[in-house]
Amino acid sequence: MMIDLTHSIHEGMTLYPGTPDVILEKVFTIEEFGFMEHRMAMTTHTGTHVDAPGHLLKTGKTLDQFPIDQFAGKAGVIPCHHLKEIDKEHLEKFEMLISKTEFILFYTGWQKKWGTPAYFESFPVLTPEAARWLAQHPLKGVGFDTISPDLTDSEEYPNHHILMEQEILIYENLTQLEKLPDDVFMFYGMPVKLDNTEGAPVRAFAEIITVPKSLSVPPNTSVCNVSNAILVSGNLI
Ligand SMILES: [Zn+2]
Repeated sequence: MMIDLTHSIHEGMTLYPGTPDVILEKVFTIEEFGFMEHRMAMTTHTGTHVDAPGHLLKTGKTLDQFPIDQFAGKAGVIPCHHLKEIDKEHLEKFEMLISKTEFILFYTGWQKKWGTPAYFESFPVLTPEAARWLAQHPLKGVGFDTISPDLTDSEEYPNHHILMEQEILIYENLTQLEKLPDDVFMFYGMPVKLDNTEGAPVRAFAEIITVPKSLSVPPNTSVCNVSNAILVSGNLI
């Protein structure tokens, strides 16, 4: 089963304060030209998107410098919707999950405020101590259902820096995280393939693989891919 974790892109959509508006303009119509085509204009940090280290670090990598497998992997979600800030003590409760995954997503519930001014206000963020603890893990990326891992009035962007210095990708404006299981699933956050950019819109989605009990296989069966790994253990390894 696939779960779409992506907001739609449209004119008038929610944008980071100060970001130029999205343009989706029909430039060819079937009636006049026999085909339909749109011209689109948006910043690379529009909607559900990924930040590469080059977004804030002068010598940081751009997206094209990562192999495609950087954008997919085993993932877990950490519930944070009851918190004002996400501290190290909260993350430590999920250390087992963090240690067996490549992506950690933070469910704050802020997606419900998408399209309203409240989306930009007072959302839970990691404390710098929590971000530093998290960044010690060999993660490919982290994701948030908020506009940023730092508050919008932050001038230093401490959590961006801490994560980017470890080359951990940052996914922003995810949605539907409440639909994810509390066990491991597969996350895909595929950016549009742009050269030399520090970010790009993504189609982010989760793949939840449930295996009928009748298909279970004996232990010690060799595995060659993630789906088989689930068959062996009942959980992703
Ligand atoms: Zn961004």
